[in-house]
Amino acid sequence: DGIGATTAGEAVGTRGGWGVDPAVREQVRRRRTFAIISHPDAGKTTLTEKLLLYAGRLDVAGMVRGRKTRRAAASDWMDLERQRGISVTSTSLAIDYRGHRINLLDTPGHQDFSEDTYRTLMAADCAVMVLDAVRGVEAQTEKLFRVCALRKIPILTFVNKMDRPGGDPLKVLGEVEEVLGIGAAPLNWPIGSGRDFRGLCDRRTRRVSIFQDGAPGSLVVPTTDGDRDDPACPLLDAGTRAALLDEIALLDGAGEPFDPGRFLRAEVTPVLFGSALTNYGVEAFLDAFLSLSPPPGPRPSDGGPVPPDRPEFSGFVFKVQGNMDSKHRDRIAFLRVCSGRFVRDMEVVNARTGEKLRMSRSHRLFAQDREAVEEAFPGDIIGLASTGQYRLGDTLYQGEPVRYEPLPQFDPEHFAVLTCRDTRRRKQFARGMEQLVEEGAIQAFSDPAEGGREQILAAVGPLQFEVVQARLESEYGVATDLEPLPYTMAHRVESEPTSLLRMPPGSLLTLDRSGRVVALFQSAFDLDAFRGRNPGVRFGSAG
Ligand code: GDP
Repeated sequence: DGIGATTAGEAVGTRGGWGVDPAVREQVRRRRTFAIISHPDAGKTTLTEKLLLYAGRLDVAGMVRGRKTRRAAASDWMDLERQRGISVTSTSLAIDYRGHRINLLDTPGHQDFSEDTYRTLMAADCAVMVLDAVRGVEAQTEKLFRVCALRKIPILTFVNKMDRPGGDPLKVLGEVEEVLGIGAAPLNWPIGSGRDFRGLCDRRTRRVSIFQDGAPGSLVVPTTDGDRDDPACPLLDAGTRAALLDEIALLDGAGEPFDPGRFLRAEVTPVLFGSALTNYGVEAFLDAFLSLSPPPGPRPSDGGPVPPDRPEFSGFVFKVQGNMDSKHRDRIAFLRVCSGRFVRDMEVVNARTGEKLRMSRSHRLFAQDREAVEEAFPGDIIGLASTGQYRLGDTLYQGEPVRYEPLPQFDPEHFAVLTCRDTRRRKQFARGMEQLVEEGAIQAFSDPAEGGREQILAAVGPLQFEVVQARLESEYGVATDLEPLPYTMAHRVESEPTSLLRMPPGSLLTLDRSGRVVALFQSAFDLDAFRGRNPGVRFGSAG
């Protein structure tokens, strides 16, 4: 894999057509860029650690310590970085495994959950959904799944914690199908569960693998393999074998065989079982991931899909991270390479401004002092220091102009009033808010009944409020007060004139930045009441 890729440097394509660069094509072929979608505590961090363990990037000792020192407010991966001294940016982790370059994008959960978490999914080519075998599909999994479904990216499912009592594989499959509305195709099936979870049966090969006891969780777990149909197979006692064959017969009767094409079209998710903690099933999962997950593909642009092996570089900014350190105003723009080859110092055009930019020392790369990015290929993520020249959704390119599709906005679920403390700094407040909204740090609405001294902020995760307050203070010298509001949803309302709208108590009509009317509701119940009272009204997403 990838041999000679660094020496074959010349692009063979011509300007004007989408030529092909074989060296780029080879790099594309070996790349996998994905994100893990899961609810907090389902096992995302543990599975990530195992991926590093299998890729040889993590020693056993490094794994055992550390978790206790985890700080809630920091990104999980920044902690991984601190604890293990591995090179990660706060947004992606690059791992070489079996000839592949795997880029794992961070999707913060817990208190870090924000619109950035959703936007990061825009940079992924596929997703791994980690479910807790006992808890099944949980709230945050569902939200992240919906964002993946928008782009129809393929999703593999790992049902984790099979070693915990109370897990029910059939129930989990049912929830995936009913709650998420996607077909679930188990590729393997657990043998025993809870304390009795001891192996897996591969449905395609009909092989059973029984895990050998050893040092659980620390090493690649050895297995003993046999044939599930062999009545003399010493690995399974008669009762276990009968139960397994019954369950598999049930699965065979219920669904069609797994079709990789339907997986790539996001119509079905292949499901694998295991326990990230004990390593059971992790290797089978990684094998399935590498053989099924797609390499970077063509990406929609204003001029049609752009193939990744187009020789000229292009990419888009999917996240801009403000620096919370008041001494540095720099921000980091995270760029996903979509085509061609990125080399340090190259000159590119920003499609939004038409401006030429040199991606050089002045736009130094984020991870420079650890692992400077000299070269990158489609699927890779690079961090660029930005003093404002890169904005969320920007396309950077060489050669023929390209402009990738704009990033979507996402439905906010948290609302608060932000007030400028010192009336003499209202101008700075207004300017700061305008820039932060434009940058995508937060969404904002205004209450027509109020003056410009306050803004209604709307966020996907409450951390966004803190970021906005801190940045207003450090970058614009504006102190603010934040007061949470009880709303949980925003809907754009199309109705004229708005004075005739009958609002249920506790809901509010606001205006977005383009002057469109947006109604805020506290609950789905209030939304229904609003619909009932205003039958002619049409709705749109607030984004
Ligand atoms: P995250 O919040 O999704 O990153 O979850 P973590 O990986 O931090 O795991 C949350 C908790 O579940 C930790 O205490 C883990 O040790 C535990 N855990 C993770 N995977 C497993 C598993 O397969 N079995 C069991 N029993 N516990 C697990």
